[in-house]
Amino acid sequence: MTILWMMRPKSKHLPQRTCIACQQIKEKKALIRLVRAENGVAEVDISGKKPGRGAYLCPKKVCWELVLKKNRLEYALRTKLSDDNRQILIEYIHNLLEES
Ligand SMILES: [Zn+2]
Repeated sequence: MTILWMMRPKSKHLPQRTCIACQQIKEKKALIRLVRAENGVAEVDISGKKPGRGAYLCPKKVCWELVLKKNRLEYALRTKLSDDNRQILIEYIHNLLEES
C-alpha cells in the first residue's frame, strides 16, 4: 500500500486574486478578503470562506486607505459603509501591521 498519491499536489496553479486598490495580482493567501455581511457591513474574512460578495486587498495601509477614501470598497462590495465601519477596517489593518 502506498499513500504517496495523496501528497501529490492537485495543481501547480495557486489561486490568484487582484487587490482592488493597487490592481496587483497576488496569491489569494497573500491578500486579505473582505466580505459584505448580510446587514451590508464590510467585514474582514479571515477564513476566506464566508459567503457573500467579497473583495481582496493587500495587507498594506496604503491600499486600505485608498479604497476607503475613494469609496472603491463600497463599489466592489455594492454596499454603503458607515463611518464606524470604515474606522473598524482602518484599525484592523493598523493593528495587523503593528503586530507583524
Ligand atoms: Zn494593493
